Amino acid sequence: MLGLMQQWPLLCHKILDHAAIQHPRREIVSRSSEGPIIRTTYADIHLRARKISQLLEREGCKPGDRIATLAWNTGNHLEAWYGIMGMGGVYHTLNPRLFPDQIAWIMNHAEDQALFVDTGFLPLVEKIAPAVPSLKRIVVLTDAANLPQTKLPNVVAYEDWLGGADGDYTWHDCNGDENTAAGMCYTSGTTGDPKGVLYSHRSNVLHAMMAAMPDSMGLSSRDTILPVVPMFHANAWGLGQSAPMIGAKLVMPGGKMDGSSIYELLDTEKVTFSAAVPTVWLMLLQHLEETGKKLPYLKKVVIGGSACPRVIVKKFQDNYGVEVVHAWGMTEMSPLGSLCTLKADFTELDGEAKLDIQQTQGFAPFGVEMKVTDDEDKPRPWDGKTFGRLKVRGPSVAKSYYGGAGSEQFDEDGWFDTGDVAHINPDGYMQITDRAKDVIKSGGEWISTIDLENLAVAHPDVAEAAVIGIAHPRWDERPLLVVVKKPGKEPTRDDLLSFMDGKVAKWWLPDDVTFVDEIPHTATGKIQKITLRERFKDYRLP
Ligand code: ADP
Repeated sequence: MLGLMQQWPLLCHKILDHAAIQHPRREIVSRSSEGPIIRTTYADIHLRARKISQLLEREGCKPGDRIATLAWNTGNHLEAWYGIMGMGGVYHTLNPRLFPDQIAWIMNHAEDQALFVDTGFLPLVEKIAPAVPSLKRIVVLTDAANLPQTKLPNVVAYEDWLGGADGDYTWHDCNGDENTAAGMCYTSGTTGDPKGVLYSHRSNVLHAMMAAMPDSMGLSSRDTILPVVPMFHANAWGLGQSAPMIGAKLVMPGGKMDGSSIYELLDTEKVTFSAAVPTVWLMLLQHLEETGKKLPYLKKVVIGGSACPRVIVKKFQDNYGVEVVHAWGMTEMSPLGSLCTLKADFTELDGEAKLDIQQTQGFAPFGVEMKVTDDEDKPRPWDGKTFGRLKVRGPSVAKSYYGGAGSEQFDEDGWFDTGDVAHINPDGYMQITDRAKDVIKSGGEWISTIDLENLAVAHPDVAEAAVIGIAHPRWDERPLLVVVKKPGKEPTRDDLLSFMDGKVAKWWLPDDVTFVDEIPHTATGKIQKITLRERFKDYRLP
């Protein structure tokens, strides 16, 4: 017997309708590419998104077409997302930090038909566009007065283009099917070609609800949200959907993510909630320490994308009264997979005991199932120490990649192999110990490079640290610690090793320390171990 309830397909544009009806005057504040701060509202965005849908349709874009965006976080970028989805199209976020030929490869794979681009990325597009024959229209997110000279064909200035529509438009109904594709994002793929993840309206809506729940990000209409994490980095962790769904004010940082620019927005806009990768928070904390400034409005930050060093959590909570939620996720998971909030048994904890829990990546919210398995796919115990391959499934987890690449990562029961190595404790708290390809195998045992890196960056003279395995005749591999010193500081190998001694098992201690000017990063800000391993492949351990 079927239930007698209404079919109300979970379509993303209903999120924006809701925001415009219930929270029409709630602001979206953006730092524009040109510099000035621009203020709009959910009512404005709702109208402008309908104009975009109208114009794209008029220009021949069809439902299902992939339409790319190459832009920082701004209100304009957000309305482009909704305008694209609103006519049945698929927004495809491109990461400007990739090499031009990688971007062109991705655009060709997706067969992008049109592109919304920030003024600052126009030189990049001039390099890419000739190699992308499917591209029919380039909309530069500015007005005619600020449109740079370009030889590219089919370029329009966004504000003037919008002037050609009245917004009298009814959203495409996606034939009533909430499984219609809504968005797309390629994982940067440190090995092999990038792989496309194709989100549906349903997965985006369910993810937005899941992300907003109290034990996830815990968002409400009273919040002012600053998504520092870019919209091209796994959908700004869902905030482009969660914020309008709950009617929060949004503060969009544009391309400026240095400590002082982020501080300025946190302060002038009275931001209560923000989300970013650890590197951004390190820059902000450094700025606060140098200037003596405080964070009177900020209540909570979500930190993810890479493991969050303990010292960041401690400083936020102890020095600034800001609660940290450590989170883990992947582009393939829309992206949230787990968040670290305190379950009822742990609310009384403080000090080091609380930090111990916060070093884990937290527990899976409703909508994410998790297991850790051995190499034969047998589940491993949730004892907080037995490592295994982390596998997940749920309504906002990919079931395959666009075009069918990487099919070995998905099994017939729907489990997706994340490529991460983790353990889960009896309370459900999961801790990532490594990427499967980064873990160090020493004498048949595994050493977590993430644990060692977190420990090394807790040293006051260390700016950044990475640990890689170096081939060893007796143990197979042994850890090498690669360190960037803080400006003006001169820590030695022995300082660092004695600092770490006693805080991890003796046999985990790195065999050596080497100092470098810079550690290479991927386009989403993660340490590029593959490059480091290549650079140090002939390194001789003492
Ligand atoms: P990419 O950066 O390769 O495009 P993602 O942004 O989807 O892809 O990265 C997902 C990966 O980032 C995860 O599989 C995991 O290895 C790592 N990651 C994300 N959050 C955390 C975290 N809190 N701690 C440790 N690793 C994390």
